[in-house]
Amino acid sequence: MLLDKMELWKKAISIRKQLGEDATSPIDIFALAYSIDRLSIVFYPLGKHISGICIKGDRNNVIGINSSMTLGRQRFSMAHELYHLYFDGDMVAVCSKKIGVGSEKEREADQFASFLLMPPDALSNMIKKIKKSPSDRLSVEEVVRIEQFFGVSRQALLVRLIEEKELTRQEAESMQQNVIWSAGSLGYDDTLYKPVPENKRYQTYGFYIQQAKRAFEQGLISNGKYEELLLSAFRSDLVYGDADERGEVLD
Ligand SMILES: [Zn+2]
Repeated sequence: MLLDKMELWKKAISIRKQLGEDATSPIDIFALAYSIDRLSIVFYPLGKHISGICIKGDRNNVIGINSSMTLGRQRFSMAHELYHLYFDGDMVAVCSKKIGVGSEKEREADQFASFLLMPPDALSNMIKKIKKSPSDRLSVEEVVRIEQFFGVSRQALLVRLIEEKELTRQEAESMQQNVIWSAGSLGYDDTLYKPVPENKRYQTYGFYIQQAKRAFEQGLISNGKYEELLLSAFRSDLVYGDADERGEVLD
């Protein structure tokens, strides 16, 4: 049976606590994920059907995020994969692009991700503040404001608002078009709605990078091997320096 929502909300709060966050603020999900012990995170274009994967091992774990999706969706994918990492008994999860469909576990992971990024009390407080009267319907401007606040994709928010009965399916459908324009014309930055730049689509962070450095520093591998490990993890920036960087800026 699908875990009930209260249970998933509790799980989301417990992970927020574990990662040093309070129960309601918007979070930088990637920064939190990089701090997780023994977890490597790989950004990779995983094709048209998969949003992310989670592979658990005896000594370390890997989460892969489909980097060809929009930044807002990648943030949702990261939150979804954390459900597999912490609460899924299976060693491997391969997750579909569509939100809120699939096996019970997939739907639980989506609900968990939604709660982790948009805590129910924070979301309902925000909606209460936005609406002039409880019977008001949310406008697309207000939807933009909410998704920008929590840093989620339009689709992730629409699915949630339908579920919370704040939008009908029909209303949500009308908000699926002109997403970038709707935010841009209200003065918001549009990075949330766009895929990340090509040169950022292949990246590895976390445990793998730390382990390679440790092995090199302990003399277990040569400098050449260390560089090879970094290059095969798409981290030429660590070997050759970042081509975009014209010196470091400390500000
Ligand atoms: Zn999944």
